Amino acid sequence: MLYACAMPPPVLRFAPSPTGLLHIGNLRTALLNVLFARHAGGQLILRFDDTDEERCEERFVDAIRTDLAWVGITPDREERQSRRAAAYESAFERLRAAGLVYPCYESAEELERKRRLLLARRLPPVYDRAALRLDEAERAALEAQGRRPHWRFRLPRQTLQWQDLICGRQSLATASLSDPVLRRADGHYLYMLPSVVDDIDMGISHVIRGADHITNTAVQLCLFAALEGQPPAFAHHSLMLAADGSKLAKRLQGLSLAQLRADGIEPLALACLLARLGSSHNPAPAASLDRLAAGFSLDGLSRAPVRFDPSA
Ligand code: GLU
Repeated sequence: MLYACAMPPPVLRFAPSPTGLLHIGNLRTALLNVLFARHAGGQLILRFDDTDEERCEERFVDAIRTDLAWVGITPDREERQSRRAAAYESAFERLRAAGLVYPCYESAEELERKRRLLLARRLPPVYDRAALRLDEAERAALEAQGRRPHWRFRLPRQTLQWQDLICGRQSLATASLSDPVLRRADGHYLYMLPSVVDDIDMGISHVIRGADHITNTAVQLCLFAALEGQPPAFAHHSLMLAADGSKLAKRLQGLSLAQLRADGIEPLALACLLARLGSSHNPAPAASLDRLAAGFSLDGLSRAPVRFDPSA
Protein backbone atom coordinates (compact mmCIF):
# COMPACT_ATOMS: atom_id res chain seq x y z
CA MET A 1 0.00 0.00 0.00
CA LEU A 2 1.22 3.50 -0.82
CA TYR A 3 0.88 6.07 1.92
CA ALA A 4 0.87 9.75 1.07
CA CYS A 5 3.15 11.56 3.47
CA ALA A 6 1.65 14.99 4.10
CA MET A 7 4.22 17.72 4.64
CA PRO A 8 3.00 20.40 7.03
CA PRO A 9 2.54 23.77 5.32
CA PRO A 10 5.71 25.86 5.57
CA VAL A 11 6.04 28.83 7.93
CA LEU A 12 8.31 31.64 6.81
CA ARG A 13 9.24 34.99 8.19
CA PHE A 14 10.39 38.31 6.81
CA ALA A 15 12.43 39.95 9.55
CA PRO A 16 13.37 43.57 8.89
CA SER A 17 14.94 45.81 11.51
CA PRO A 18 12.91 49.01 11.56
CA THR A 19 15.97 51.25 11.34
CA GLY A 20 15.19 52.69 7.93
CA LEU A 21 12.98 52.48 4.87
CA LEU A 22 12.72 49.26 2.89
CA HIS A 23 14.60 49.30 -0.38
CA ILE A 24 14.15 47.19 -3.41
CA GLY A 25 16.63 44.57 -2.18
CA ASN A 26 14.60 44.12 1.03
CA LEU A 27 11.45 43.81 -1.06
CA ARG A 28 13.05 41.02 -3.07
CA THR A 29 13.72 39.10 0.19
CA ALA A 30 10.14 39.70 1.35
CA LEU A 31 8.77 38.56 -2.00
CA LEU A 32 10.81 35.36 -2.15
CA ASN A 33 9.45 34.52 1.31
CA VAL A 34 5.80 35.34 0.64
CA LEU A 35 5.77 33.66 -2.79
CA PHE A 36 7.36 30.52 -1.38
CA ALA A 37 4.86 30.48 1.49
CA ARG A 38 1.80 31.11 -0.68
CA HIS A 39 2.89 28.63 -3.32
CA ALA A 40 2.82 25.89 -0.69
CA GLY A 41 -0.26 27.10 1.21
CA GLY A 42 1.95 28.17 4.11
CA GLN A 43 2.22 31.24 6.30
CA LEU A 44 4.31 34.38 6.37
CA ILE A 45 5.15 36.09 9.66
CA LEU A 46 6.30 39.70 9.60
CA ARG A 47 8.84 39.83 12.40
CA PHE A 48 10.21 43.18 13.45
CA ASP A 49 13.78 42.79 14.73
CA ASP A 50 13.45 45.81 16.97
CA THR A 51 15.57 45.05 20.03
CA ASP A 52 17.95 47.93 19.36
CA GLU A 53 16.09 50.76 21.06
CA GLU A 54 18.51 53.41 19.88
CA ARG A 55 18.29 52.62 16.17
CA CYS A 56 14.74 51.35 15.73
CA GLU A 57 11.95 53.84 15.17
CA GLU A 58 8.19 53.44 15.19
CA ARG A 59 7.85 55.49 12.01
CA PHE A 60 9.87 52.83 10.18
CA VAL A 61 7.62 50.07 11.57
CA ASP A 62 4.66 51.92 10.03
CA ALA A 63 6.54 52.60 6.79
CA ILE A 64 7.44 48.91 6.41
CA ARG A 65 3.80 47.87 6.90
CA THR A 66 2.70 50.46 4.33
CA ASP A 67 5.36 49.42 1.81
CA LEU A 68 4.50 45.74 2.07
CA ALA A 69 0.76 46.44 1.78
CA TRP A 70 1.48 48.51 -1.34
CA VAL A 71 2.92 45.43 -3.03
CA GLY A 72 0.07 43.26 -1.74
CA ILE A 73 2.16 41.43 0.85
CA THR A 74 -0.22 40.76 3.72
CA PRO A 75 1.50 38.80 6.49
CA ASP A 76 -0.52 36.22 8.35
CA ARG A 77 0.85 37.48 11.64
CA GLU A 78 3.10 40.12 13.07
CA GLU A 79 5.68 39.65 15.82
CA ARG A 80 7.96 42.11 17.56
CA GLN A 81 11.18 41.08 19.20
CA SER A 82 10.92 44.00 21.63
CA ARG A 83 7.98 42.16 23.24
CA ARG A 84 9.77 38.82 23.61
CA ALA A 85 12.48 39.67 26.13
CA ALA A 86 11.36 36.90 28.52
CA ALA A 87 11.87 34.21 25.86
CA TYR A 88 15.40 35.45 25.13
CA GLU A 89 16.18 35.66 28.83
CA SER A 90 15.15 32.07 29.42
CA ALA A 91 17.12 30.80 26.41
CA PHE A 92 20.15 32.73 27.62
CA GLU A 93 19.82 31.23 31.10
CA ARG A 94 19.69 27.76 29.58
CA LEU A 95 22.90 28.42 27.66
CA ARG A 96 24.51 29.86 30.76
CA ALA A 97 23.52 26.89 32.92
CA ALA A 98 25.02 24.59 30.30
CA GLY A 99 28.29 26.59 30.31
CA LEU A 100 27.80 27.56 26.67
CA VAL A 101 28.10 31.31 27.15
CA TYR A 102 30.93 33.07 28.95
CA PRO A 103 31.48 36.58 30.26
CA CYS A 104 34.06 38.79 28.51
CA TYR A 105 35.43 42.07 29.75
CA GLU A 106 37.47 43.48 26.86
CA SER A 107 36.57 47.00 25.79
CA ALA A 108 35.89 47.78 22.13
CA GLU A 109 39.35 49.38 21.93
CA GLU A 110 41.07 46.31 23.38
CA LEU A 111 39.29 44.05 20.92
CA GLU A 112 40.23 46.33 18.05
CA ARG A 113 43.89 46.23 19.13
CA LYS A 114 43.83 42.41 19.20
CA ARG A 115 42.22 42.37 15.78
CA ARG A 116 44.86 44.63 14.27
CA LEU A 117 47.70 42.59 15.78
CA LEU A 118 46.32 39.41 14.24
CA LEU A 119 45.81 41.07 10.87
CA ALA A 120 49.36 42.48 10.99
CA ARG A 121 50.60 38.90 11.45
CA ARG A 122 48.40 37.84 8.52
CA LEU A 123 46.24 35.74 10.82
CA PRO A 124 42.42 35.67 10.69
CA PRO A 125 40.97 38.13 13.22
CA VAL A 126 39.32 35.46 15.35
CA TYR A 127 38.67 36.18 19.03
CA ASP A 128 41.29 34.34 21.12
CA ARG A 129 38.93 33.27 23.93
CA ALA A 130 41.12 35.04 26.47
CA ALA A 131 38.08 35.58 28.70
CA LEU A 132 37.63 31.83 29.02
CA ARG A 133 40.96 31.66 30.83
CA LEU A 134 40.01 34.18 33.51
CA ASP A 135 39.51 32.67 36.94
CA GLU A 136 36.93 33.81 39.44
CA ALA A 137 39.28 36.17 41.28
CA GLU A 138 40.29 37.86 38.02
CA ARG A 139 36.68 38.30 36.99
CA ALA A 140 35.83 39.73 40.41
CA ALA A 141 38.75 42.17 40.12
CA LEU A 142 37.52 43.35 36.72
CA GLU A 143 33.99 43.79 38.05
CA ALA A 144 35.39 45.73 41.01
CA GLN A 145 36.92 48.14 38.46
CA GLY A 146 33.39 48.76 37.24
CA ARG A 147 33.61 46.57 34.15
CA ARG A 148 30.42 44.82 33.10
CA PRO A 149 30.67 41.71 30.95
CA HIS A 150 29.36 41.09 27.50
CA TRP A 151 28.59 37.45 26.76
CA ARG A 152 29.92 35.23 24.02
CA PHE A 153 28.57 31.91 22.82
CA ARG A 154 31.20 29.19 22.91
CA LEU A 155 31.09 27.70 19.42
CA PRO A 156 31.71 23.97 19.32
CA ARG A 157 34.82 23.25 17.26
CA GLN A 158 33.46 21.46 14.23
CA THR A 159 32.92 21.70 10.51
CA LEU A 160 29.29 22.42 9.80
CA GLN A 161 27.65 21.19 6.67
CA TRP A 162 24.22 21.99 5.39
CA GLN A 163 22.29 21.94 2.17
CA ASP A 164 21.26 25.42 1.09
CA LEU A 165 18.15 25.49 -1.10
CA ILE A 166 19.75 28.04 -3.43
CA CYS A 167 23.52 27.79 -2.91
CA GLY A 168 23.76 24.02 -2.59
CA ARG A 169 26.08 22.23 -0.21
CA GLN A 170 27.74 24.52 2.33
CA SER A 171 30.57 23.76 4.69
CA LEU A 172 32.13 26.01 7.31
CA ALA A 173 34.67 25.29 10.05
CA THR A 174 33.74 27.13 13.24
CA ALA A 175 37.46 27.57 14.04
CA SER A 176 37.43 30.34 11.42
CA LEU A 177 34.78 32.26 13.40
CA SER A 178 34.93 34.31 16.57
CA ASP A 179 32.66 33.18 19.34
CA PRO A 180 29.72 35.53 18.70
CA VAL A 181 28.67 38.10 21.25
CA LEU A 182 25.07 37.28 22.16
CA ARG A 183 24.55 39.89 24.82
CA ARG A 184 26.04 43.35 25.26
CA ALA A 185 27.37 44.71 28.52
CA ASP A 186 24.20 46.81 28.89
CA GLY A 187 22.12 43.60 28.88
CA HIS A 188 20.75 43.99 25.35
CA TYR A 189 20.69 40.99 23.04
CA LEU A 190 22.26 41.27 19.62
CA TYR A 191 20.57 39.76 16.56
CA MET A 192 21.90 36.19 16.77
CA LEU A 193 20.12 34.65 19.78
CA PRO A 194 16.67 36.29 19.48
CA SER A 195 16.50 35.24 15.84
CA VAL A 196 17.12 31.58 16.69
CA VAL A 197 14.75 31.63 19.68
CA ASP A 198 12.02 33.12 17.48
CA ASP A 199 12.63 30.66 14.66
CA ILE A 200 12.24 27.81 17.15
CA ASP A 201 9.24 29.23 19.03
CA MET A 202 7.41 30.27 15.86
CA GLY A 203 7.98 26.96 14.11
CA ILE A 204 9.81 28.53 11.17
CA SER A 205 10.37 25.85 8.53
CA HIS A 206 12.28 27.87 5.91
CA VAL A 207 14.53 30.91 6.17
CA ILE A 208 15.05 32.76 2.91
CA ARG A 209 17.47 35.67 3.26
CA GLY A 210 20.42 37.38 1.67
CA ALA A 211 23.76 35.70 1.07
CA ASP A 212 25.33 38.12 3.57
CA HIS A 213 23.83 35.86 6.27
CA ILE A 214 25.57 32.61 5.29
CA THR A 215 28.16 32.85 8.06
CA ASN A 216 25.38 33.63 10.54
CA THR A 217 23.73 30.39 9.49
CA ALA A 218 26.75 28.40 10.69
CA VAL A 219 26.56 30.13 14.09
CA GLN A 220 22.81 29.77 14.25
CA LEU A 221 22.96 26.05 13.48
CA CYS A 222 25.16 25.71 16.57
CA LEU A 223 22.60 27.69 18.58
CA PHE A 224 19.71 25.54 17.33
CA ALA A 225 21.66 22.49 18.50
CA ALA A 226 22.49 24.08 21.88
CA LEU A 227 18.81 24.96 22.44
CA GLU A 228 17.65 21.60 21.09
CA GLY A 229 15.53 23.29 18.43
CA GLN A 230 14.73 22.04 14.97
CA PRO A 231 16.65 24.18 12.46
CA PRO A 232 14.73 25.42 9.42
CA ALA A 233 15.85 24.84 5.84
CA PHE A 234 17.97 27.75 4.67
CA ALA A 235 18.02 29.48 1.30
CA HIS A 236 20.44 32.35 0.76
CA HIS A 237 19.72 34.46 -2.26
CA SER A 238 22.31 36.58 -4.02
CA LEU A 239 22.50 40.22 -3.09
CA MET A 240 21.22 43.00 -5.27
CA LEU A 241 23.73 45.69 -6.04
CA ALA A 242 23.17 49.20 -7.32
CA ALA A 243 24.03 49.83 -10.96
CA ASP A 244 27.55 50.95 -10.00
CA GLY A 245 28.15 47.70 -8.06
CA SER A 246 27.77 49.30 -4.60
CA LYS A 247 25.55 47.80 -1.90
CA LEU A 248 21.93 48.87 -1.74
CA ALA A 249 21.95 50.74 1.53
CA LYS A 250 18.76 51.60 3.30
CA ARG A 251 19.73 55.19 2.88
CA LEU A 252 19.70 54.91 -0.88
CA GLN A 253 16.52 56.94 -1.23
CA GLY A 254 16.18 56.46 -4.98
CA LEU A 255 15.49 52.76 -4.57
CA SER A 256 13.37 52.97 -1.45
CA LEU A 257 9.87 51.62 -1.94
CA ALA A 258 8.45 54.93 -0.77
CA GLN A 259 10.28 56.69 -3.59
CA LEU A 260 9.30 54.10 -6.20
CA ARG A 261 5.68 54.47 -5.10
CA ALA A 262 5.94 58.25 -5.35
CA ASP A 263 7.43 57.79 -8.84
CA GLY A 264 4.26 55.98 -9.91
CA ILE A 265 5.85 52.53 -10.31
CA GLU A 266 3.27 49.76 -10.67
CA PRO A 267 3.77 47.45 -7.64
CA LEU A 268 2.68 44.20 -9.31
CA ALA A 269 5.00 44.80 -12.25
CA LEU A 270 7.83 45.41 -9.79
CA ALA A 271 6.95 42.18 -7.93
CA CYS A 272 6.93 40.20 -11.20
CA LEU A 273 10.35 41.56 -12.08
CA LEU A 274 11.88 40.97 -8.63
CA ALA A 275 10.49 37.42 -8.38
CA ARG A 276 12.54 36.42 -11.40
CA LEU A 277 15.51 38.76 -11.12
CA GLY A 278 18.81 36.84 -11.01
CA SER A 279 17.17 33.62 -12.13
CA SER A 280 17.18 31.57 -15.29
CA HIS A 281 13.48 32.35 -15.83
CA ASN A 282 12.45 35.44 -17.73
CA PRO A 283 10.19 37.86 -15.87
CA ALA A 284 6.58 37.40 -16.94
CA PRO A 285 3.53 39.48 -16.10
CA ALA A 286 1.02 38.05 -13.63
CA ALA A 287 -2.52 39.20 -12.84
CA SER A 288 -1.99 39.07 -9.07
CA LEU A 289 0.52 38.15 -6.41
CA ASP A 290 -1.33 34.85 -5.94
CA ARG A 291 -0.94 34.03 -9.63
CA LEU A 292 2.74 34.91 -9.35
CA ALA A 293 3.01 32.59 -6.33
CA ALA A 294 1.35 29.74 -8.22
CA GLY A 295 4.24 29.58 -10.69
CA PHE A 296 6.98 30.39 -8.18
CA SER A 297 9.93 28.26 -7.21
CA LEU A 298 13.44 28.86 -5.89
CA ASP A 299 14.83 26.71 -8.71
CA GLY A 300 16.89 28.61 -11.18
CA LEU A 301 17.90 31.39 -8.80
CA SER A 302 21.52 32.23 -9.38
CA ARG A 303 24.16 32.67 -6.67
CA ALA A 304 25.76 35.57 -8.50
CA PRO A 305 25.00 39.11 -7.29
CA VAL A 306 22.48 40.96 -9.44
CA ARG A 307 22.86 44.57 -10.42
CA PHE A 308 19.75 46.68 -10.58
CA ASP A 309 19.58 49.73 -12.75
CA PRO A 310 16.21 51.48 -12.40
CA SER A 311 16.95 53.63 -15.45
CA ALA A 312 17.37 50.59 -17.71
N1 GLU B 1 16.90 41.60 10.89
C1 GLU B 1 17.78 40.79 10.08
C2 GLU B 1 18.13 41.56 8.81
O1 GLU B 1 17.36 42.44 8.44
C3 GLU B 1 17.10 39.49 9.75
C4 GLU B 1 18.00 38.48 9.14
C5 GLU B 1 17.32 37.12 9.04
O2 GLU B 1 16.48 36.97 8.15
O3 GLU B 1 17.61 36.27 9.87
O4 GLU B 1 19.16 41.34 8.22
